[in-house]
Amino acid sequence: MSHPTPSTLSSDRKIVLVTGASSGIGEATARHLAAGHHVVLGARRLDRLGRLVNELTEAGHHAECAPLDVTDLESVKAFVDGALARHGRVDVLVNNAGIMPLALMEELRVDEWNQMIDVNLRGVLHGIAAVLPTMRDRRSGHIINVASTAAHRVDPTGVVYCATKFAVRAVSDGLRQETTDLRVTVVSPGLTHTELTLSGGNAQMQGAVRDALEAVGIDASAIAEAIGYAIAQPANVNVNEVVVQGTAQV
Ligand code: NDP
Repeated sequence: MSHPTPSTLSSDRKIVLVTGASSGIGEATARHLAAGHHVVLGARRLDRLGRLVNELTEAGHHAECAPLDVTDLESVKAFVDGALARHGRVDVLVNNAGIMPLALMEELRVDEWNQMIDVNLRGVLHGIAAVLPTMRDRRSGHIINVASTAAHRVDPTGVVYCATKFAVRAVSDGLRQETTDLRVTVVSPGLTHTELTLSGGNAQMQGAVRDALEAVGIDASAIAEAIGYAIAQPANVNVNEVVVQGTAQV
């Protein structure tokens, strides 16, 4: 796992932190951004992160990883502070980690409701809390929150998931308005081929989404491209929100 010093990094190579980089959209984002930036990858499955970092560094890219549980503020602070100590700055934080256990409300899967609030919403807030002081001090930085098309419309079985994603959009827009020298972007994917439907929730309802994914899902690289687009804009240009979904998704 390479840890280059700031002097080895070119000035346009940003320090980009990605949460939930061990699979899916986070992994695709890491692969896409590592070509031009230095990526710092966080998640709980360090073995997978380690393999990804090895692959990226062997390809000549700049990447490193660290353990991260976004539900734990101290873990998120340690992730950000470690990057700050090694590189002197954090240019971009991609708050991507998320879970989506689907079920009807009447099943009362309260533990899963709380997990979604903890990862999808509290995790984003923890990320913001960890980077905002240093970005405010530097009057520079970019926070990218991964929401969803589920942040725009509510569907049965995804009620609490949608609630967390609506909240992520609300937090993002409010933060954007409050911080006139920082950039804040929401990237809202539609159905995307990842591991999101593979754990938790009602098996039948998770399966129904997998069927829909087969029909209209898109590759995670499409979301990574949108994140890259937002980062690539000049410092005075804020991409407020990008919604990216399959052409065939209604
Ligand atoms: P994946 O399940 O493939 O990836 C989820 C990532 O989140 C994993 O890397 C996982 O890593 C990480 N994660 C989960 N819990 C935690 C935690 N407590 N702390 C740190 N990391 C955590 O799904 P996606 O790539 O699809 O999900 C990425 C984001 O995209 C999510 O916010 C999701 O809601 C959103 N999204 C996805 C869509 C889709 O169709 N796939 C559509 C719309 C939005 P680990 O388990 O190793 O910690």
